Amino acid sequence: MAVRQQALEDNKSAAGTPLLDVRDLRVYYNTVSGVSRAVDGVDLSVRRGEILGIAGESGSGKSTLTTALLRLTKPPGFIAGGSIIFHSRDGELVDLMKVSEAQMRSYRWRNLSYLPQGSMNSLNPVMRISDQFEDVIRAHSDRSTQEIRDIVPELLRQVGLEPHVAKMYPHELSGGMKQRVIIAMAVALNSDLVVADEPTTALDVHIQRVVIQTLGALRDNFGMTVILVTHDMAVHAELADRVAVMYAGSIVEVGDVRQIFKDPKHPYTKGLIGSIPRIGGERRRLSGIQGNTPSPTNWPSGCRFHPRCPYVMDVCPREVPRLLPIRDGQARQKPLVACHLYTEVQAESGGRDGGQ
Ligand code: SF4
Repeated sequence: MAVRQQALEDNKSAAGTPLLDVRDLRVYYNTVSGVSRAVDGVDLSVRRGEILGIAGESGSGKSTLTTALLRLTKPPGFIAGGSIIFHSRDGELVDLMKVSEAQMRSYRWRNLSYLPQGSMNSLNPVMRISDQFEDVIRAHSDRSTQEIRDIVPELLRQVGLEPHVAKMYPHELSGGMKQRVIIAMAVALNSDLVVADEPTTALDVHIQRVVIQTLGALRDNFGMTVILVTHDMAVHAELADRVAVMYAGSIVEVGDVRQIFKDPKHPYTKGLIGSIPRIGGERRRLSGIQGNTPSPTNWPSGCRFHPRCPYVMDVCPREVPRLLPIRDGQARQKPLVACHLYTEVQAESGGRDGGQ
């Protein structure tokens, strides 16, 4: 069976079902000036077959969160608490925080693939691409050498590369081609989840477009699930189905991508969207966000956005707002928002996820 057909068959029946449930995840760093709470109480759910964008300024904790999801946090960082529940295809629930490091290694690539920032540099410079495919696939599946050799040309074609790329060395490829080779390896293993951290950063505009199309194809052609981490809101607008907005180590809003861009709820999300220049339409002044991101060793009290928020109220420095579903017209998927503007008047009872 062709690679694409097989992956689609495997994934389409499960589309929309839960894949990952993250609860109260905390990732801290020991620093000379104290404990830096880079990720501090993140709740997040990921469904099969979607592209979930994670947005926010640099320093908001996006990359720290994604490395923690795969338990790749390195000292002086450490995971201080929380749970990461993985829903396997056969219905098993596995708390990735509780499995051994050996078990976790087997989950990586086979179930959870990671494209770190600059992942194109992770290819071995002295091995041909075909040999690198063989190494990765053989380590995480029971395919024979001949089977692997047979599927590599098709895998390369699926990410828009010519089959002869298999015979080349990494230094003969552009950054975008290397990025697509790494994506093809995730396709080869039909990973449940691909976590892509700033996949378009440091690429020229043309190559950025190719990588965006390739990531879109993972969802559209293979039914794969992607967590897309980028500060670039235009990439989210183009690719994501839902967007989670991070500020100061926690999630402040989660919603359908159209809602986030058309009708952002949280004042920080409004600022992010308001700072995007638009081509065409009415001329308007970019609003931006006043002030700077606070230090993770000394987050502001209550709502961490309160020193920068144009809507700040008396309650804001005193009480931490919870991430709760709010009413949004007739929308089936209610946005989740952590803001007293909504929790005071609109929040509904019934749990954190609100159908997200
Ligand atoms: Fe602004 Fe208060 Fe909402 Fe925080 S909780 S975003 S300070 S209105």
